[in-house]
Amino acid sequence: MKEFTIQDKMFLELKEKSIFEKAQNYSIKYLENVFDRNVYPTEEALNNLLVFDETFPENSIEAEKVIELLNEFGNPATVSTLGGRYFGFVCGSALPVAIAAKNLGTYWDQCPTMHSLSPIAAKLESVVEKWLIELFNLPLGTSAGFVSGTTVANLCGLAAARYRILQRKGWDINQKGLYSAPKIRIVTGQAHSSIIKALQLLGFGQENIEWAEVDNQGRIIPESLPELDESTIIILQAGNVNSGSFDPFENICKKAQKATSWVHIDGAFGLWADVVDKLRYLTKGCNMANSWAVDGHKTLNTPYDCGIVLCKDNEALTTAMQTSGAYLNKSNDRDGMYYTPEMSRRARIIELWATMKYLGREGINEMIGIMCDRAKQFAEEISSLNGFFVENNVVFNQVIVSCENDTTTQNVLKNIQELRECWLGGSIWKGKKVIRVSICSWATTEKDIIGSVNSFKEALKIEKTNNSN
Ligand SMILES: *Cc1c(COP(=O)(O)O)cnc(C)c1O
Repeated sequence: MKEFTIQDKMFLELKEKSIFEKAQNYSIKYLENVFDRNVYPTEEALNNLLVFDETFPENSIEAEKVIELLNEFGNPATVSTLGGRYFGFVCGSALPVAIAAKNLGTYWDQCPTMHSLSPIAAKLESVVEKWLIELFNLPLGTSAGFVSGTTVANLCGLAAARYRILQRKGWDINQKGLYSAPKIRIVTGQAHSSIIKALQLLGFGQENIEWAEVDNQGRIIPESLPELDESTIIILQAGNVNSGSFDPFENICKKAQKATSWVHIDGAFGLWADVVDKLRYLTKGCNMANSWAVDGHKTLNTPYDCGIVLCKDNEALTTAMQTSGAYLNKSNDRDGMYYTPEMSRRARIIELWATMKYLGREGINEMIGIMCDRAKQFAEEISSLNGFFVENNVVFNQVIVSCENDTTTQNVLKNIQELRECWLGGSIWKGKKVIRVSICSWATTEKDIIGSVNSFKEALKIEKTNNSN
């Protein structure tokens, strides 16, 4: 046997602590400039990523060297989604307290599969479940599963719906599967791609979707809905991924309740509007649904990897997510794995709890209210410039911007991305190429908006100059 084993090496690293201190120092330095620097990595930083292209190492190296490599070449190649000038996709920053709590939780390395595996994680999951019921005014007994994001939360909510609708028809989906099962109808409007993915994974298929008509903001027109019945799952949206609009929940949920259809709401970033006094009109009636999917890592600003499925029907969710095994002893306390597809997972509840405990209702109200103000500021400033047009009603945090034609829009977007003052992506809205601005960071200031609008102006100037040459 070797005299100094890999185990000895690791105990020594643990004892010496220097890699932890090093990583901690790098992390704190990172936070000092990530809010001010170029939002997107420089060409040089991107080219330097080549250092990671190597064949699998034969031997173990010094732990310090691993941490140093990550810091030297990984750090500059990060995108500053944490900062206030990242407006791409629909993302989110992370609150300082959430980063700190996550850091602490990393050292704990807890797994909330069962209560016996992590009493602290099980406790925090039960507490946050109750808080969410209170916050969104959901029926008592609503269950929460803590998953990686809204994609998985949508999958869970729709799996619960599938279970319940078939069970009412005497069909046990877990035993009999979907072949020859009674037909389930799927009705939706401008659903997010993650809904389509969930429908594919659950075996419904895209061709079976009945598409409801939507208005010019992407909201379902209730009068255009097909007849709903007890075999229907209707999927609504709190926060359209382009326009930020909300489906008219109250009207549609009433119809669905009468028809005993199942309503699932994809509220990835928009459901939090329900906690904001001046925005609550947008979510009116959303608590009449059967299941909901919402992210922590978007407008709430927990670190990534934080989504929640909420389901009014505990039995439907836990039966759809059922697992059993002789070694699994179900306790009277919360066993997380009965609410999620995974068995082992990270205790992401630590950051979610920390974020909610820190902000409280008033903090969420204020923080997300500010995001909405910044979106309105952006829309106002950009539409006062020649050559830019705002294409949506800015009701929440999304602004859709176009230029005079598709080619200009596309080139201007490319120029903005290359300037690196802010970062945004493109989309298609009503057949037109657009630039999509999503304000989801606690850190976005009025000054960030002014700087970003200037970058739009600069990008258009570059495009005009290129054209005239
Ligand atoms: C982001 C988003 C999703 C997907 O959520 P993830 O957390 O990325 O899995 C689903 N629906 C909407 C409306 C979204 O904005």
